Amino acid sequence: MNRTVDVLVVGGGPAGLAAAARLAAAGAGRVEVLEREEAAGGAPRHCGRAGFGPYTGPEYARRAVAEAVRAGAVVRTGAGATGWAGALGGALPLGPGRGQPGAGDGAVRERTTEGPLAGPAGGHRPPTTERRGTARGATGPAGPAGPAGHPLVLEVTAPTGLERITARAVVLATGARERPRSARLVPGSRPAGVLSTGELQQSVELFGLRGERIGRRAVVVGSEPVARHAVGTLRRAGVAVVAVVSDRADGPRLPCPVLRGATVRELVGRGRLSGVVVRAADGRAGLLRCDTVVFTGDWLPDHELARSGGVPLDAATRGPSVDPALRTRVPGVFAAGNLLRGVEPAVVAAAEGRAVASAVLAHLAGAAWPDPGPALLPAGSLRWVTPGRLSPSGASGPAPVLSLRPATRLVHPTLTVTQDDRLLHRQRIPAFLAPHRSLRHPATWAGAADPAGGAVTVRLEAGRTESRGGSRGGRGS
Ligand SMILES: Cc1cc2nc3c(=O)[nH]c(=O)nc-3n(C[C@H](O)[C@H](O)[C@H](O)COP(=O)(O)OP(=O)(O)OC[C@H]3O[C@@H](n4cnc5c(N)ncnc54)[C@H](O)[C@@H]3O)c2cc1C
Repeated sequence: MNRTVDVLVVGGGPAGLAAAARLAAAGAGRVEVLEREEAAGGAPRHCGRAGFGPYTGPEYARRAVAEAVRAGAVVRTGAGATGWAGALGGALPLGPGRGQPGAGDGAVRERTTEGPLAGPAGGHRPPTTERRGTARGATGPAGPAGPAGHPLVLEVTAPTGLERITARAVVLATGARERPRSARLVPGSRPAGVLSTGELQQSVELFGLRGERIGRRAVVVGSEPVARHAVGTLRRAGVAVVAVVSDRADGPRLPCPVLRGATVRELVGRGRLSGVVVRAADGRAGLLRCDTVVFTGDWLPDHELARSGGVPLDAATRGPSVDPALRTRVPGVFAAGNLLRGVEPAVVAAAEGRAVASAVLAHLAGAAWPDPGPALLPAGSLRWVTPGRLSPSGASGPAPVLSLRPATRLVHPTLTVTQDDRLLHRQRIPAFLAPHRSLRHPATWAGAADPAGGAVTVRLEAGRTESRGGSRGGRGS
């Protein structure tokens, strides 16, 4: 089945739903949200506790869905975007030099060779729709044009079968996931009982699994706040937490044993996990007996759909490279939320969803797709910066607000911004920065940058590093 919509939003989490609500309310035409899970709402759906403003995760999710539907968006569930029809990446409007991906400007361009119509996980389940979106949209020829005349056409696996949906604009809001055990290069056997926090929370909060259906003795691996959520979820499910293994010397304080400065070196067990080999800070290794291990944090943007379309990624965040209006480098394709860089609070993702709507509306009204502005490259103790590009138009408009993510704990660091060896800005940040929290930074210096110049380097240097602070360094997401 071929259909046409005005805006197709891929991902029904806080970012995608907020974008859809704003676009539909602003009269953007037919706005359709695709959510591959049985219900929309994104990660908050399986966070059955407070922490989302005054709401629990599920309440927050329900409200976000209701707002989008009330505004007139169609929210379809059990419907996953599985590929692009047509070569988006092959038609990127980029010339050689500064804007060319891979030309040292901080962007990477990757392709996958995966089949485009591989069904999404759970695609066989009986689908539910907040509002079923299969029939209302106009059916017809591909009208809207993407890069170099290529229409933006997505291949979708839906309850009703395979579809091709053509859109005038596409908002990618596919979120992020925790890096799995394989990507963390943890060797050993491949037993059952190896989970991420997301998988654990889905099992407990959505499917009601308890006790021995999950396991009896669990080890949690990680240093980010999400390790605390994993411990809480395990305990609520009646699973004993043997230990939390944190590679940081200043790992989290939790109501269970925490092995700081330690790493999991191997998984042991045939069929079911029977233990993990842990190396302590002093180099000694030992076996911790457990039947469950939960790998937490270490986020990776869910960027497969973007990659398969040839949307250039940011080398530091691994999410799509975007400008302050959240335009990717493929005309008509936008990105918002955790897809851009990994986990931030839900309100940040939702705010990005609302912000992207303005640029989408301008695109629908015929605004030209600008050439990309200078790349923003992280340096020193900065792990990443989003958005990863400056506005192409230079000084016009309000200063963009950047998110800066430190690679290590920093006290009163110095921020230095340079372009082509020219100093644009220097500032002491009178704050304590932690690697799981972003610093919001209004780039008041952006107007001084040359929109046609080279990459802008954003550097964070330690003022005074905490003596007890451990650093993992590197990118990690
Ligand atoms: C364990 C955990 C605890 C958290 N606790 C808090 C908290 O206490 N407070 C807080 O503010 N924030 C919390 N967060 C963060 C918050 O949940 C996220 O910031 C927010 O959900 C991000 O929104 P998003 O829309 O970018 O992504 P997501 O919420 O991840 O939504 C993305 C959606 O896209 C869908 N999708 C992906 N690919 C496709 C595709 N190809 N086709 C169709 N659909 C697709 C996914 O199924 C998903 O529903 C927590 C996150 C986690 C994981």
